[in-house]
Amino acid sequence: MSPVRLVIFGRQGSGKGTQCARLVEAFGPVHISTGDMLRAAVAEGTEFGRRAQKVMDAGDLVSDEIINGIVAERLALPDVVQNGFLLDGFPRTPAQATALNALLEEAETSLDLAINLDVSIEVVTERMVTRGRADDSPEGIAQRLSLYEQETAPLFSLFADQGILKIVDGDGTEDEVAARLAHVVTESQGNKQ
Ligand code: AMP
Repeated sequence: MSPVRLVIFGRQGSGKGTQCARLVEAFGPVHISTGDMLRAAVAEGTEFGRRAQKVMDAGDLVSDEIINGIVAERLALPDVVQNGFLLDGFPRTPAQATALNALLEEAETSLDLAINLDVSIEVVTERMVTRGRADDSPEGIAQRLSLYEQETAPLFSLFADQGILKIVDGDGTEDEVAARLAHVVTESQGNKQ
């Protein structure tokens, strides 16, 4: 199987984390979640981690410069070059999308697909209120959803223009959604040959 190179978008509460694990299992890319990388830094208690925590607690975005640097370093590691990648939580802003394009061009590679795992604002809000995690205060949820609409959703058109955007319905059982995702990824691999 040749390496897959994917970006996945989805609102908080869309089931993206679970489906990323399924995609890794099925297609073997390295899962690169900028949220997970930041949470790891927070857990390590570094100075950077403490600053990141404040930003994350407020539901704001960490600066483009920092995130772009973290992703650039990760994408250059041999496991990613060999097995491909599944970018999760990045890009989130136009500046990050530009940086990603430049990185891929430099590495003489390209994305196979940008997936929008689509679950409506109503459904994700309902899911998050029910699961009640510590970082899911009603204000935090509303702030993150609104940032997503403002900053991230406008990026879809960039990938649509490249002909690689796939909208996948994220409403359904875990297996149903995993099957829909596997279908679009398999299709993209067929088109690559
Ligand atoms: P996530 O787990 O992807 O929802 O990320 C959790 C938090 O980490 C976000 O609310 C942001 O504060 C921060 N974060 C994650 N990815 C990025 C990114 N690409 N750009 C800026 N901030 C990010």
